[in-house]
Amino acid sequence: MGVPTSDSLRSALLHHFGYPDFRPGQEVLVRAALEGRDAVGLLPTGGGKSVTYLLPAALGRGVTLVVSPLVSLMADQRRRGIEARLRTEALHSGVSARERRDILGRALAGHLDVLLLAPERLGSPTLAPLLASGQVGRVAVDEAHCLIQWGFDFRPAYLALAGIGRRLRCPVLAVTATATPEVRVGIERVLGLRRPVRVRQSFDRPNLAWRVRRVRGEGARWAALVELLGRPGPALVYAPTRRSVEAVRDALARLGFGAEAYHAGLSDPERSRMQDRFIAGEVRLVVATNAFGMGVDKADVRQVVHWAPPGSIEAWYQEAGRAGRDGEPAACTVLWHPEDLRLQRRLASSGATDRDGADDARAGERRRWARARARRLRALGRFLRGRRCRRAVVLDYLGEDDPPRSCAACDRCAGPSSL
Ligand code: ADP
Ligand code: MG
Repeated sequence: MGVPTSDSLRSALLHHFGYPDFRPGQEVLVRAALEGRDAVGLLPTGGGKSVTYLLPAALGRGVTLVVSPLVSLMADQRRRGIEARLRTEALHSGVSARERRDILGRALAGHLDVLLLAPERLGSPTLAPLLASGQVGRVAVDEAHCLIQWGFDFRPAYLALAGIGRRLRCPVLAVTATATPEVRVGIERVLGLRRPVRVRQSFDRPNLAWRVRRVRGEGARWAALVELLGRPGPALVYAPTRRSVEAVRDALARLGFGAEAYHAGLSDPERSRMQDRFIAGEVRLVVATNAFGMGVDKADVRQVVHWAPPGSIEAWYQEAGRAGRDGEPAACTVLWHPEDLRLQRRLASSGATDRDGADDARAGERRRWARARARRLRALGRFLRGRRCRRAVVLDYLGEDDPPRSCAACDRCAGPSSL
């Protein structure tokens, strides 16, 4: 099959998704997949990454495997696939053994366009016949930064993706909104991409006011949080641990702020109920660990506040990026005290030593990423302490070609409380 012309790709986009035109970067990625080439797409949150693998699934041969880190994301993508008139299924823990056999049977028979799954599934014996069948037309890795952040910590299943394109003899597309040069190189190396097509859009979010506030102690941290949450509009507060999330939620409740707590300790139904209520506007404030957010498409979040900094600039960028997806002004504020960084350093160094004498390649990878994590923390320290424009620092860090020297909206350029 030849690769379609631009016009026919656009009419397919309109037919399946109802959009008259591509967003920047989408067409190049769709084309790469249809030409059988590996590709990496770095598009900001809301940039339209789903289309880059769903449209090739509609136009190309075979089934498209979409590797996704979270059940909630899979459910969302499944809905989108079906809306786009694609035969779409998801394999996750909520699917019974019978349904699973049925889904795999349809995939093997060539009656499925999109199959969503968690990385853990790839190694399971039930999937082996499909992988060996030659029916897989392409593999897409959504939220591909998880490969790097998780691959060597608590989600080793991502390592099952190593060299998958060679094994299945099909192209691999990796997409993410985290774009540090380090993550980008790591994704390409771990997946074993072969001369990939690379697409990168600007990561600037001009409507976001990025602010850092150094606090003198816990009292000042509270005062800052209360002042920020006194402003109107939906807000997300990120805190580093489940305990701190609950403590912040309880204290906010005593101060008369109705807030909900969200962390990995809640059941799946509790989590999705809370997400739905936040999206519907029934809950104004959510205090959460980093478990919250991926796949939560709420456009009008007016503030993201970090009770304490996360482990890296890119983690902060992802979480803060959930503000202002509607393009209206929104504020992102990190509260920090030097002690917070010491805590993060301790967490990072605990992963730096080899835990179990696992095989050398993995141990080597793990050490490599422990060093990377230490580097990321040092960059975070420079971001928090530095005198430069926050936007300049972040975009420079994300590898943007021509980052601005100043902006009109960060605390360094516009003052601590302007919006
Ligand atoms: P990402 O995964 O990059 O954050 P999504 O794939 O979830 O982004 O898409 C974000 C939003 O943009 C969705 O509402 C989607 O329907 C919309 N969208 C994607 N591509 C286009 C397009 N070409 N034209 C108009 N809207 C689009
Ligand atoms: Mg997405």
